[in-house]
Amino acid sequence: MRRSIVAANWKLNGSLEMAKSLVTAIDAHSNGLAGVDAVICPPFPYLSYVGGLMSAGNMCLGAQSVADQQSGAFTGEVSAEMVAEMGCRYAIVGHSERREYYGETDAIVAAKFLRIQTAGLIPILCVGESLEQREQGMMQDTIVRQVSAVVTEAGIANMKNAVLAYEPIWAIGTGKTASPEQAQEVHAIIRSEITKHSADVAEGLRILYGGSVKANNAAELFSQPDIDGGLIGGASLDAEQFNAIVAAGSSK
Ligand code: PEP
Repeated sequence: MRRSIVAANWKLNGSLEMAKSLVTAIDAHSNGLAGVDAVICPPFPYLSYVGGLMSAGNMCLGAQSVADQQSGAFTGEVSAEMVAEMGCRYAIVGHSERREYYGETDAIVAAKFLRIQTAGLIPILCVGESLEQREQGMMQDTIVRQVSAVVTEAGIANMKNAVLAYEPIWAIGTGKTASPEQAQEVHAIIRSEITKHSADVAEGLRILYGGSVKANNAAELFSQPDIDGGLIGGASLDAEQFNAIVAAGSSK
């Protein structure tokens, strides 16, 4: 039985005031909820503050990205070790916005994945196809390429300490959620790709769904056999929405 994860990706949103009211409400709700971890990934400057607001044992802190280097002359970058020092347990890597707007290739994603693990953190590796790739029948190839780029570099044993997130680009921030069947199909593809290397690792791997998950569709998505929770953007900025999604993860 895989323990669910519901992770909040605040992206470039928030303020100290918003962080206080949002995280206080999520913490109170998560406290005592069985079978689910709630991960909050705020912008870097708020990491320490948000970590300080968490008291529930099932709440964790995560970073939205890290540098592919450990240290040096890389102005504006933040290392995996730094966010680990600030209390992070997870770091997102390979988000489509990073791939698209910041030129993060499969090779850069793999390098970051390794940096995250070297710092003792758990990567949340995002993969997903564009609408064009789906319409051209390239969905499976795209997903397998993105997963394989990391498995080849990191080795299958390191996938034990990782979480995957399937995030179809056409569903992110668009209000167009993948249907539970569409999402399950891709989650099963990812799990069977990992099974080719290790059935044991595949069985234990948590695979989250992300893309317009809301309070009213989370339970149905999470009820699918290969969906182990969600990575939540827009709805993670609303305590009522996010708490309902965490509750759906708990009752999976
Ligand atoms: C995301 O960006 O990771 C995401 C899933 O966003 P949204 O929930 O807003 O679609």
